[in-house]
Amino acid sequence: MGVLGLTSRKFNKFFQIKYKIINRNYYTQKRLLSSNYSSQNDAILPVLIVGAGPVGLVLSALLTKLGVKCAVLERSTTFSKHPQAHFINNRSMEVFRKLDGLAEEIQRFQPPVELWRKFIYCTSLTGSTIGSVDHMQTQDFNQIVSPVSVAHFSQYKLNALLLKQLEAVGFTVRSHEGLDHRPLAEREILMGHNCISVEATGNLVNVTTSFVKEGKHIEKQIPCSFLVGADGAGSTVRNLVGIEMRGEKDIQKLVSVHFLSQELGKYLMYEKPGMLFFIFNPGAIGVLVAHDLKQGEFVLQMPFYPPQQKFEDFSSEVLFFS
Ligand SMILES: Cc1cc2nc3c(=O)[nH]c(=O)nc-3n(C[C@H](O)[C@H](O)[C@H](O)COP(=O)(O)OP(=O)(O)OC[C@H]3O[C@@H](n4cnc5c(N)ncnc54)[C@H](O)[C@@H]3O)c2cc1C
Repeated sequence: MGVLGLTSRKFNKFFQIKYKIINRNYYTQKRLLSSNYSSQNDAILPVLIVGAGPVGLVLSALLTKLGVKCAVLERSTTFSKHPQAHFINNRSMEVFRKLDGLAEEIQRFQPPVELWRKFIYCTSLTGSTIGSVDHMQTQDFNQIVSPVSVAHFSQYKLNALLLKQLEAVGFTVRSHEGLDHRPLAEREILMGHNCISVEATGNLVNVTTSFVKEGKHIEKQIPCSFLVGADGAGSTVRNLVGIEMRGEKDIQKLVSVHFLSQELGKYLMYEKPGMLFFIFNPGAIGVLVAHDLKQGEFVLQMPFYPPQQKFEDFSSEVLFFS
């Protein structure tokens, strides 16, 4: 996640400086963030967050709780139904504990821990088990290292709970049609808007977004005091402000197949319940993520090696019959 507020053109430097300013002059910053928007200039949002993934949504809820006015821009026109992440660590659960009952809701709605505490290594789902690892430890249940245990809950379900929380404090999800020509208001999540440029002038960050209307790309300017890049691993905001990603890129490519099978869910639930199934045999290698055995919701992840392999090699016909 990146944060940008505007006092310097040297974005990289600014990135570090701004954090220091926030820490040193907390009260000044607090006034700027909470009162500037309504009383001085209605067109300037105190905080604009790019990205309505879990990080952007959690941040919106936390800022709102602190009285900081914010809005969110999201490139996709709808929220993804791909399960993506599922394993939530202690630290994330501790943050969720601060959000009116979110940690408790996750614990209530997640599958029973007995169904996901194991990683299973096997030759195939119906074949022999090579070994299994129980990744839950006594300390996880006894609240020794953290007051909240880890959880197993699909990302799209988490996003739905976060949206419910945000709606309860006055957030609205808008398509670009819902905005017309008026500026983006606080507590709005604007869908279908791709952040394409960021410009720092004086105390403002001018964010340009692009959206599609009747087949045409239209650009819109959104000024704000602080910009937060919560736009994922390939962050556009990070690239636009010239912050390089450290470490190795493209470590591995995977093809993920999301499917529903109550039959498989029932079979695994009784035969070998687990969260991850590492499958090794000469015909196929993959990791099956059991998002919810009771619902029969799975993602099969397979290694993908372009240019030797093409994406088309993983067509639904091939996957269904293999
Ligand atoms: C298959 C899979 C399994 C995973 N499993 C786990 C797991 O078990 N546990 C775990 O902790 N993590 C897991 N992860 C990683 C986890 O999904 C990410 O860490 C998490 O999604 C990061 O959240 P985020 O909000 O930062 O970014 P994202 O979820 O990527 O959200 C970023 C949002 O920003 C939007 N966006 C991007 N660019 C722009 C732009 N230019 N303008 C406007 N909007 C933009 C995107 O559309 C997106 O909605 C998994 C990921 C995948 C793909």
